[in-house]
Amino acid sequence: MAVDPLIELRGVNKYYGKLHVLQDIDLTVGRGEVVVVIGPSGSGKSTLCRTMNRLETIESGSIAIDGRPLPEEGKGLAQLRAEVGMVFQSFNLFAHKSVLANVSLAQTKVRGRKKEEADKRSHELLDRVGLASQAEKLPAQLSGGQQQRVAIARALAMDPKVMLFDEPTSALDPEMINEVLEVMQQLARDGMTMVVVTHEMGFARSAANRVVFMADGRIIEDRTPDDFFTNPRSDRAKDFLSKIL
Ligand code: ADP
Ligand code: MG
Repeated sequence: MAVDPLIELRGVNKYYGKLHVLQDIDLTVGRGEVVVVIGPSGSGKSTLCRTMNRLETIESGSIAIDGRPLPEEGKGLAQLRAEVGMVFQSFNLFAHKSVLANVSLAQTKVRGRKKEEADKRSHELLDRVGLASQAEKLPAQLSGGQQQRVAIARALAMDPKVMLFDEPTSALDPEMINEVLEVMQQLARDGMTMVVVTHEMGFARSAANRVVFMADGRIIEDRTPDDFFTNPRSDRAKDFLSKIL
């Protein structure tokens, strides 16, 4: 398959003290691709996500987004973070600001949009995640699933080139998981490049182009979902799947 690479990691190594948390990671994510990252707890999935927008430094190797190496520090970093949207397990919304203000804030501060322009875009995005009628509410007045959809709208408001999701539904009550996954499914259909750490295997099967299986800081398998789920090759993957499926 000819891929137009949007994210390229080459020989990435990272340590926390003596812990070799990312070991010789090579990973290419093509434009428009959806890559689901799975693996046991502690295998380095969150760290991998965090290195991709330089919330973490690396000891060796290289990471490039859309052909540009990640900047070390300074202004380039704010620009990079705007291009790499990130959604975490915890939504981290500003509690004392309205839903609308939560989505508009970084647009004015980082993207330099005028307030009216930012609010217009926020309304569009809130509509897209099914929350058009909630704009004036405070986050605490929304359910967890709604708050996570606000967090997705907030990330999209920066017009990112790629969206990283780190277990976006893990903190949600079961009945709220699907509404968040549906928004993510729609994003994928719209062509967004996505890296998604999740335990939701239904999502992986239906939305992912590739499944990356990590264990002990390494990528053990990188295959199509069909291939991976029906015929895992490594003992680590077989063991992992037997516990979650
Ligand atoms: P996962 O997301 O797959 O559960 P993480 O990337 O969060 O894994 O963590 C990988 C390993 O790195 C774990 O052993 C974890 O305890 C360790 N770790 C994560 N963050 C830190 C940190 N800030 N300092 C030290 N060790 C860390
Ligand atoms: Mg994690």
